[in-house]
Amino acid sequence: MNSTGVIMVLSKYEKYSDYYKQYRLDHKAERNECSNTWYQNHKAEQKVRAKKYNLSIKQEVLTHYGGGKCACVRCGESRLACVSIDHINGNGTGHRRDSGLGGIKIYLWLRQQGYPDGYQTLCMNCQFVKRVENEEYAPNGVVSG
Ligand SMILES: [Zn+2]
Repeated sequence: MNSTGVIMVLSKYEKYSDYYKQYRLDHKAERNECSNTWYQNHKAEQKVRAKKYNLSIKQEVLTHYGGGKCACVRCGESRLACVSIDHINGNGTGHRRDSGLGGIKIYLWLRQQGYPDGYQTLCMNCQFVKRVENEEYAPNGVVSG
Protein backbone atom coordinates (compact mmCIF):
# COMPACT_ATOMS: atom_id res chain seq x y z
CA MET A 1 0.00 0.00 0.00
CA ASN A 2 1.36 3.40 -0.89
CA SER A 3 1.28 6.47 1.33
CA THR A 4 -1.94 7.70 -0.28
CA GLY A 5 -3.65 4.48 0.71
CA VAL A 6 -2.50 4.82 4.32
CA ILE A 7 -3.81 8.37 4.52
CA MET A 8 -7.10 7.25 2.98
CA VAL A 9 -7.49 4.46 5.56
CA LEU A 10 -6.74 6.77 8.46
CA SER A 11 -9.05 9.50 7.22
CA LYS A 12 -11.89 7.01 6.78
CA TYR A 13 -11.49 5.46 10.22
CA GLU A 14 -15.03 6.27 11.24
CA LYS A 15 -16.44 4.73 8.08
CA TYR A 16 -14.36 1.56 8.50
CA SER A 17 -15.45 1.41 12.10
CA ASP A 18 -19.05 1.62 10.97
CA TYR A 19 -18.35 -0.97 8.28
CA TYR A 20 -17.00 -3.47 10.80
CA LYS A 21 -19.83 -2.73 13.20
CA GLN A 22 -22.32 -3.56 10.44
CA TYR A 23 -20.24 -6.59 9.39
CA ARG A 24 -20.42 -7.97 12.93
CA LEU A 25 -24.20 -7.47 12.95
CA ASP A 26 -24.63 -9.08 9.52
CA HIS A 27 -22.50 -12.09 10.44
CA LYS A 28 -23.66 -12.51 14.01
CA ALA A 29 -24.81 -16.13 13.59
CA GLU A 30 -21.54 -17.23 11.95
CA ARG A 31 -19.50 -15.40 14.54
CA ASN A 32 -21.49 -16.96 17.39
CA GLU A 33 -21.08 -20.41 15.88
CA CYS A 34 -17.35 -19.86 15.48
CA SER A 35 -17.15 -18.58 19.05
CA ASN A 36 -19.13 -21.51 20.40
CA THR A 37 -16.98 -24.00 18.51
CA TRP A 38 -13.83 -22.39 19.84
CA TYR A 39 -15.24 -22.44 23.38
CA GLN A 40 -16.21 -26.11 23.11
CA ASN A 41 -12.69 -26.95 21.93
CA HIS A 42 -11.06 -24.92 24.72
CA LYS A 43 -13.61 -25.36 27.50
CA ALA A 44 -11.33 -27.03 30.03
CA GLU A 45 -8.50 -24.52 29.69
CA GLN A 46 -10.98 -21.62 29.74
CA LYS A 47 -12.42 -22.85 33.04
CA VAL A 48 -8.94 -23.11 34.53
CA ARG A 49 -8.08 -19.63 33.24
CA ALA A 50 -11.33 -18.15 34.60
CA LYS A 51 -10.81 -19.76 37.99
CA LYS A 52 -7.24 -18.45 38.16
CA TYR A 53 -8.42 -14.96 37.16
CA ASN A 54 -11.24 -14.98 39.71
CA LEU A 55 -8.85 -16.06 42.47
CA SER A 56 -6.43 -13.28 41.56
CA ILE A 57 -9.24 -10.69 41.72
CA LYS A 58 -10.43 -12.05 45.05
CA GLN A 59 -6.89 -11.99 46.43
CA GLU A 60 -6.32 -8.43 45.21
CA VAL A 61 -9.54 -7.12 46.78
CA LEU A 62 -9.03 -9.01 50.04
CA THR A 63 -5.47 -7.67 50.24
CA HIS A 64 -6.77 -4.13 49.87
CA TYR A 65 -9.40 -4.58 52.59
CA GLY A 66 -6.95 -6.55 54.72
CA GLY A 67 -4.74 -3.49 55.07
CA GLY A 68 -2.11 -4.70 52.62
CA LYS A 69 -2.28 -8.39 53.58
CA CYS A 70 -4.66 -10.98 52.23
CA ALA A 71 -5.66 -11.92 55.75
CA CYS A 72 -8.38 -11.48 58.35
CA VAL A 73 -8.00 -8.07 60.01
CA ARG A 74 -8.99 -9.54 63.39
CA CYS A 75 -7.08 -12.81 63.75
CA GLY A 76 -4.66 -12.86 60.82
CA GLU A 77 -6.06 -16.00 59.15
CA SER A 78 -4.58 -15.93 55.65
CA ARG A 79 -5.84 -19.05 53.88
CA LEU A 80 -7.72 -17.74 50.85
CA ALA A 81 -10.50 -20.29 51.28
CA CYS A 82 -11.17 -18.99 54.81
CA VAL A 83 -11.31 -15.23 54.24
CA SER A 84 -13.94 -13.13 52.52
CA ILE A 85 -15.39 -9.65 52.37
CA ASP A 86 -17.34 -8.45 55.40
CA HIS A 87 -19.75 -5.55 55.36
CA ILE A 88 -18.55 -3.57 58.39
CA ASN A 89 -22.02 -2.25 59.24
CA GLY A 90 -23.77 -5.56 58.54
CA ASN A 91 -26.58 -6.16 56.05
CA GLY A 92 -24.32 -8.05 53.67
CA THR A 93 -27.11 -10.49 52.90
CA GLY A 94 -29.45 -7.62 51.98
CA HIS A 95 -26.78 -5.97 49.85
CA ARG A 96 -26.03 -9.21 47.98
CA ARG A 97 -29.73 -9.90 47.48
CA ASP A 98 -30.61 -6.37 46.30
CA SER A 99 -27.59 -5.91 44.07
CA GLY A 100 -27.20 -9.45 42.77
CA LEU A 101 -23.51 -9.31 43.70
CA GLY A 102 -22.93 -12.89 44.77
CA GLY A 103 -19.69 -14.83 44.43
CA ILE A 104 -16.94 -13.19 42.40
CA LYS A 105 -19.23 -10.32 41.38
CA ILE A 106 -18.82 -8.54 44.74
CA TYR A 107 -15.03 -8.54 44.31
CA LEU A 108 -15.25 -7.26 40.75
CA TRP A 109 -17.72 -4.59 41.84
CA LEU A 110 -15.58 -3.40 44.76
CA ARG A 111 -12.57 -3.14 42.46
CA GLN A 112 -14.59 -1.34 39.79
CA GLN A 113 -15.95 1.11 42.38
CA GLY A 114 -12.42 2.03 43.49
CA TYR A 115 -12.58 0.18 46.81
CA PRO A 116 -15.33 2.07 48.67
CA ASP A 117 -15.29 2.28 52.47
CA GLY A 118 -17.46 0.02 54.60
CA TYR A 119 -15.80 -3.32 53.90
CA GLN A 120 -13.09 -5.40 55.52
CA THR A 121 -11.43 -8.76 55.13
CA LEU A 122 -12.51 -11.24 57.77
CA CYS A 123 -12.29 -15.00 58.12
CA MET A 124 -15.59 -16.84 58.50
CA ASN A 125 -15.01 -17.51 62.21
CA CYS A 126 -14.51 -13.82 62.91
CA GLN A 127 -17.52 -12.95 60.73
CA PHE A 128 -19.76 -15.24 62.77
CA VAL A 129 -18.36 -13.89 66.04
CA LYS A 130 -18.93 -10.31 64.81
CA ARG A 131 -22.52 -11.11 63.82
CA VAL A 132 -23.27 -12.45 67.27
CA GLU A 133 -21.48 -9.55 69.02
CA ASN A 134 -23.36 -6.96 66.94
CA GLU A 135 -26.62 -8.93 66.83
CA GLU A 136 -26.62 -8.72 63.04
CA TYR A 137 -29.69 -10.74 62.21
CA ALA A 138 -31.76 -10.71 59.06
CA PRO A 139 -35.53 -10.13 59.39
CA ASN A 140 -36.10 -13.89 59.15
CA GLY A 141 -33.98 -14.42 62.26
CA VAL A 142 -31.02 -15.84 60.38
CA VAL A 143 -27.62 -14.33 61.07
CA SER A 144 -26.74 -12.08 58.14
CA GLY A 145 -23.35 -11.06 56.73
ZN1 LIG B 1 -10.41 -14.03 61.70
